[in-house]
Amino acid sequence: MMQQVLNYIGGKLGPAAGGQWLEGHAPGEGRVFTHIADSDRQDVDRAVEAATQALPGWMALGRKRRHDALMRVADLVERDLALFAAAESRDNGKPLHLAMEVDVPRAIANLRFFATAILHWESEAHLTDDEAVNYTDRQAVGVAGCISPWNLPLYLFTWKVAPALATGCTVVAKPSELTPLTTHMLAERCIEAGFPPGVLNIVQGTGPKVGAAITEHPAIPAISFTGGTATGARIAATAAPMFKKLSLELGGKNAVLVFADCDFEEMLKETVRSSFSNQGQICLCGSRILVERSLYPRFRAAFVERVKALRVGDPGEQSTDIGAVVSEAHLNKVLSHVALAKEEGGTLLCGGDQVRLGGPLAQGWYMAPTVIEGLGPGCRTNQEEIFGPVVTIQPFDTEEEALQAANGTRYGLASVLWTADGRRMHRMARQLKSGIVWVNCWMLRDLRTPFGGMKHSGVGREGGREALRFFTEPRNVCIKL
Ligand code: NAD
Repeated sequence: MMQQVLNYIGGKLGPAAGGQWLEGHAPGEGRVFTHIADSDRQDVDRAVEAATQALPGWMALGRKRRHDALMRVADLVERDLALFAAAESRDNGKPLHLAMEVDVPRAIANLRFFATAILHWESEAHLTDDEAVNYTDRQAVGVAGCISPWNLPLYLFTWKVAPALATGCTVVAKPSELTPLTTHMLAERCIEAGFPPGVLNIVQGTGPKVGAAITEHPAIPAISFTGGTATGARIAATAAPMFKKLSLELGGKNAVLVFADCDFEEMLKETVRSSFSNQGQICLCGSRILVERSLYPRFRAAFVERVKALRVGDPGEQSTDIGAVVSEAHLNKVLSHVALAKEEGGTLLCGGDQVRLGGPLAQGWYMAPTVIEGLGPGCRTNQEEIFGPVVTIQPFDTEEEALQAANGTRYGLASVLWTADGRRMHRMARQLKSGIVWVNCWMLRDLRTPFGGMKHSGVGREGGREALRFFTEPRNVCIKL
C-alpha cells in the first residue's frame, strides 16, 4: 500500500476533489513511494473558503492562545522528530542525519520562534507635538497564500506558515509536489493537537494548478513565495495588478571570497560544507569560490582532496555526506550544466558524473561532488543558478576584482567572506550586493535577522519582525489631543 499524501482543508485530511493523484518518488531509490493528491482550483477554492470562515475566530483568539496552539503542534513534531526526519530524507534524498540535525529541529524552532515572537511584538506610537497622538495598529492581513520549494521542505514551509499564523492570518499553503510528505504529517499533528479547523489549510499538487490558483485567488491578499526566479516573476506578474502583498525569496548564485589571511583550516571545512550541504541544493550554498591568487594553489589542492573524500551514498547511513539529488529531471539539469562548463572551456578537477550505487539504491539519482576551474566570471556557468553539487573556483588579485566578480551576476542572495582583517570585513560587507553577508562562517542563523535577497534573488525580507510586518497591515490611528 502506497503512502498517501492528502490535502488538509477545514481541519480534515482528504483526496483532491477531482480524484487525481501524482506519483511521489524516493530520490535515493529512484522509485515511486507515495501518491499525492493532485489538486486543482476547486480544492483551492474550498481551502480559501475554510480559511475565510476561520479568520475572525483565529484573530479574536488573541496572541496568547495562538501561541499555545502553535506550541502544541511544535511539541508533537518534536515528539516525532525521528519519524519526520526519516520521511524528509526519503522524500528528498537528503542524508538522514541532516534532516535529524537541521531540517526538523529548524521546523520546530520556526514554530516556537514565531509563536513566542508575537507575544513580545510591539507597535509604534508618534506624538505630534501637543496636537495629536498617533499609534500604529497592525492587524492580520487576512488569508495568506504560502508557496514553498523542495530543497528544505518542512523547514521552509514552517518558516512562512508560522509567522502568518502567529499574527492572526489564516493560511492556504502549498508545499512542493516533489517533497510534500512531511507537510501531510504536520497536518496529522495539527489534528492531534486540536488546532482549530480551517486556520491552516494545505493543498497538495502542482505549481501550474494549485500554485497558480492560490496566486490568482481574489480572496488572498498576500502571497509569500520561495522558489525559482522564473516562477517568482510569473507570480509577481499575476499578483501585482491585483495589488497583493508579495514576499519573494528566489534563486541565488552566491560567491565565497577567500583572502590569504583567513583561518585556512576553518575556511576549508566550512567551504566544503557551504558548497555541498544538501547536495548543493540550498539557496544559500556558495557556488562561485573566489580565492586570492597567493593562496590559490594551496586552496585548490586541499579543497579538491577534501571534496574527493566526501562519501556519496545511502541517505540513511550516518557516514553519508552526499545523498541523492531531488529528481531525475534535476539530476539531468545539473549534468547538463557540467557539459556546458566543459564547452565553455572549464576543467573538471573532480566529479562531473552520475554515481551508480548498488542494491536497492541502483536506480537512485546520485551525483559526484564537482569542482570546476578555468572559467571567468562572465560565462554562463558562473552566471546561471545550477542548484546542485557543483562549484567553480577562480583566482583573483585585488579586492576590487573580487568584489566585481562577486557582484557581477543578476542574483544577490548571500555572500561569504573569509578574512582576518577587521577593516576589510566591514569595507567589503558594505559593498557586497547581497541580502546576507557571512563573515568567517556560513549558515549561522539567528531567526530574528532579516532574511532575503537583492536584485533577482527576491523582493522583501523574511525573519523576525520583517515576517510579522509582512503578514500584517499597518494602520495609523491619529487622535487629536
Ligand atoms: P520552483 O519555482 O519550481 O517551485 C517552488 C514552488 O512554486 C513549488 O511549490 C511549485 O510547485 C510552485 N510553483 C511552480 N510554478 C508555479 C506557478 N506558476 N505559480 C505558483 N506556484 C508555482 O522552485 P523549486 O525548484 O521548488 O526550488 C528551487 C528554487 O528555489 C531555486 O531557485 C532556489 O534558489 C530557490 N530557493 C530560494 C530560497 C530563498 O530563500 N531565496 C530558498 C530555497 C530555495
